[in-house]
Amino acid sequence: MAVVEVRGITKHFDDVKAVDGVDLRSEEGEFLVLLGPSGCGKTTLLRMIAGLEPPTDGEVLIGGQVVNGLPPRVRQIAMVFQSYALYPHMTVFKNIAFPLKAEGLDAKAREDKVQWAAKLLDIDRLLHRKPRNLSGGERQRVALARALVREPSVFLLDEPLSNLDAKLRAAARDDLLEFQRRVGITAIYVTHDQVEAMGMGDRIAVMNQGKIHQLGTPAEVYDRPQDTFVATFLGSPPMNLLDHGDFLIGFRPEHFLPTVVAEPAGSGTPLVFHVNRVEFLGSERYVYGIVQGYPENTKVISMLPSTVAVPLAVDENHDFVVVPGKLRFFDRETGQRIEEQAL
Ligand code: ATP
Repeated sequence: MAVVEVRGITKHFDDVKAVDGVDLRSEEGEFLVLLGPSGCGKTTLLRMIAGLEPPTDGEVLIGGQVVNGLPPRVRQIAMVFQSYALYPHMTVFKNIAFPLKAEGLDAKAREDKVQWAAKLLDIDRLLHRKPRNLSGGERQRVALARALVREPSVFLLDEPLSNLDAKLRAAARDDLLEFQRRVGITAIYVTHDQVEAMGMGDRIAVMNQGKIHQLGTPAEVYDRPQDTFVATFLGSPPMNLLDHGDFLIGFRPEHFLPTVVAEPAGSGTPLVFHVNRVEFLGSERYVYGIVQGYPENTKVISMLPSTVAVPLAVDENHDFVVVPGKLRFFDRETGQRIEEQAL
C-alpha cells in the first residue's frame, strides 16, 4: 500500500495542454477515480504516475518518494489497461508468470505466486487455457492476476471494464472492488462512465481540459458540485440550470416535483412548469418543459418515480416545487458555486 501524490503535474504535447497543473493525493488503500469526458487528460495523468510519460513539469510521489525519472518497473505500481494486453500464444499460467520470469524468479517461486494470485481471483481452474478461450470477465481477471503477482503498492487501472457487456461489467465491477478491498491496495481508476465512478470510487476527481474541477466523495460531487461543469457532467439527466440574471440556479431533475406531492405540504421553492412532453420509462417518468419567468430556450426536466402518479397534461402549466435544501447557485460568469448565504 502506498499514497500516490502529484504536485503541479503538467503535460504539454506541442500546443495541447493534456494535463495542466494538477495537484492530487490519494489516501492509503483508497479507490480513487479519475472521471471526465474523452480527451480531458485522464490517461495522460495515469501514464505520468506510472512512469510511461515524462511530465513537462511537476512531481510524482509514490509512498512519499519523488519518482520522477524512475522507470515504471521500480515504481511498485501495476497498470491494467482497457485492452488487457494478454499474450495470445501463452496459457493463462504463462501470462501471469511472465513478469516474474522477467524478474528472474525461479520456477518454484513462480509457480507458488501464480497459484496464489489465481486463487485470489478465482481463475485457478483456467490456468491451462489460452486467452482466446476465456470470457471478457475472465481475461480481465487474468490481467489483474498478472499485475498482482508483482506485489505492487499501487494499482493503476485505465478503463479496464470497457470491453465488457453491460451485465458482465456490473459483475466485474463488484469483483474488482471486492478484490481491491481484500488486498487493501491503493487504486487509481480512470473512467468516463459516471455510473462506474459513482458506484466504485471512495472519492472522485472530476476532470475537464487537463484540470481537476472537484475532488470529493460521490455524494459530495453529486450533491454539492463545485461548478456548472461538475453539475452537468454528473447526473443523468444532468442538473437543470436557469439563468436568474445575477446568477444561475440549479436543481436536479429528481428534486423538481409537482407541488401536490411536496413533503411537508407547502414546502419547497414554487415554480410554474409548462410541460411540453412526458416520457414514460417504466420505473420513472421524465417530464420536459420550461419554467415560467425564465428563458424559453432553457429546457427543464423533472424525473418522477412511477409511484408519483399525478396526471401531467401536456401544453399546460403545472405547479411544481424544488425540494427544500436542493437549490444550488452558480456564478453566471465563472460557473463557480456560490454558497446560499453569500447571495
Ligand atoms: P479518453 O477517455 O478518450 O481516453 P483521456 O481523458 O484519457 O481521453 P488523454 O488520452 O489523456 O485523454 O488525452 C488528453 C489530450 O492530450 C487529448 O487532447 C489528446 O489528443 C492529447 N494527447 C494524448 N496523447 C498525445 C500524444 N502522444 N501526442 C499528442 N497529443 C496527445
